[in-house]
Amino acid sequence: MTEDKQETGFGISDDDILTRSREETDITFSSAVDVVLSLACRNKCGYCRFSKRNQDLTVPYSTIKTFKAAKKAGAREAHLVAGERPDKFHAIRAKFDVWGFNSYIEYIYTIAELAFLEGLLVNLEVGYLSLTELKYLKEIITSVEMSLESTNRDFLQSVHHQYSPSKDPNIRIKFIENAGKLNIPTNTGILIGIGESPEERIRAFVRIKDLHEEYGHIQSVKINTFVPEKNTPMSEEQPVSDETLYETIRLAREIMPKDVDITIPVNIHQDIIKLVEHGVNDLGQIRVYGRASLFPKMPFKTIEEYQAELALGGYTLHKQLPIKNQFILAQKYSKKLGQFLDKHRAKLKDNMREDKFMLTF
Ligand code: SF4
Repeated sequence: MTEDKQETGFGISDDDILTRSREETDITFSSAVDVVLSLACRNKCGYCRFSKRNQDLTVPYSTIKTFKAAKKAGAREAHLVAGERPDKFHAIRAKFDVWGFNSYIEYIYTIAELAFLEGLLVNLEVGYLSLTELKYLKEIITSVEMSLESTNRDFLQSVHHQYSPSKDPNIRIKFIENAGKLNIPTNTGILIGIGESPEERIRAFVRIKDLHEEYGHIQSVKINTFVPEKNTPMSEEQPVSDETLYETIRLAREIMPKDVDITIPVNIHQDIIKLVEHGVNDLGQIRVYGRASLFPKMPFKTIEEYQAELALGGYTLHKQLPIKNQFILAQKYSKKLGQFLDKHRAKLKDNMREDKFMLTF
């Protein structure tokens, strides 16, 4: 074990993480593992391929094995995922009771802490949480993920979200705003191909930009594309065209400030060079252990394959932590997370002194 590893106590080597200033040809990713806490969801979106009727709940103890194996495979990020508010269901609340949790939030905290103790940093994507709940979880998570999807409120009356009241854009915006008030680094994005107009895409990006200008907390904007799923109300709809996708990436890059990454699920869209040439500068979470919670049958390539592909276009691939360097420098993390992140921050500061790391925004 190296001295570095002994010092952090996490067995994480920082050597492969980008700690100098980012250049135009630097493309980043986060090495991640997905852990699904529950597939139960209070909503029923017309295109959803994730939520299921079953009311299973991951047993916290069982995640330790996954976190250990993921860490060994090189993961830095534990991406904790769930349908929205599974605690709406009685059977799930009963399990919390049996396992000794007073609330859903205590349950999430415990799993996030297990991940952290195994050397992983948590990015949380579980749908809407209140300001108080986020404040409590902030101590143990490094970032949250919440897609704005669209600003079109008419979808609440149509096949898209008629049974998904919390897909109201105002509620999504409230969450993103609350995360900003609490200084929690936030990943957001939009969903394209569900019948939104080009103007609505612009409106969504501008709204995200405005939130970032106010709170300075948006790390990345992910462009998700609608993919028709069998046995859903929108199964007969057409998937989005490549041209629309590329146009939306260009638009996102044009509207979002430079310090916000533009990302895309690279297990669905495989032509990396084209994506990068249109404006993607981050490959998002590459699952280095296990499968993705969404589109699990669409596997990721290996890191080496992505590296080789990008090299052909003159780009280089670098790891970054789920909390990005500018947020680490600004110390947007709790004292508890400082056990690992303070050391990384010190390295960034040293590099700043030596001009290897400069804030370019
Ligand atoms: S909120 Fe998410 S998990 Fe729930 S039904 Fe909608 S898309 Fe599926």
